[in-house]
Order: sequence, then structure tokens, then C-alpha cells
Amino acid sequence: MCGQFPVPRLGPHPDRPRAYPPGRRPHLPIRPLWVCRACGLPWPCAEARLLLKVEYADQPVELAIYLSGLYHEATHDLFRLNPHDGPTPRELFARFVAWGPYRRPLVEPDR
Ligand SMILES: [Zn+2]
Repeated sequence: MCGQFPVPRLGPHPDRPRAYPPGRRPHLPIRPLWVCRACGLPWPCAEARLLLKVEYADQPVELAIYLSGLYHEATHDLFRLNPHDGPTPRELFARFVAWGPYRRPLVEPDR
């Protein structure tokens, strides 16, 4: 233990989405709170999700890996910060992973 905040581990570094337009403050998370440093909302905020969908439009598996890694990191950080009534793993899964555009459609598209 060193200090009151969790120590970052070896998961992915939250460096996406990039700033858009360039020069603006990027919609990236402030650790260990996982709020957006641009708009202050829980990360990934709506803007971050939109930008991630665009950046990873052709790389859905990479987006899934990135979000899953950050889900794991955030679960660790937020539990350490608030072990009693913080968000549950299920809530964090919905927030970080389940919104992703890489899921299969319920109905296969026509060919
Ligand atoms: Zn934001």
C-alpha cells in the first residue's frame, strides 16, 4: 500500500479516444476516479463512446480488448476507493464493455 489511491497495474493505458477536434481536451478518464477529464461525466462518456466507435470502426476486436482491459482496471480502482457501496462489477461491465459496437446483431443481416 502506498497512499490512499490504488496503484495502477499493467492493464492498457487509457489513451483513446484521441482529442477531437485536435487541440481540445481529450475525453479520457482521470484515474482512479474514472470520470472524464473533459466533461466530468463517468467514463466512457457519450462523447468518448462516439469517438471510440469512429476510431475503432475497422477494429472491433481491438476495441473489445481495450474496453475489457479498462473494465478490469476500473473495477479494481473503484472497489479499492469504495469497497462498500461503489458500482458493482455488473454495472461496470455495462458501462465499459456491453455498449460496444462489436456485438453480433440479434438477427443476421440479409445477404
Ligand atoms: Zn467526456
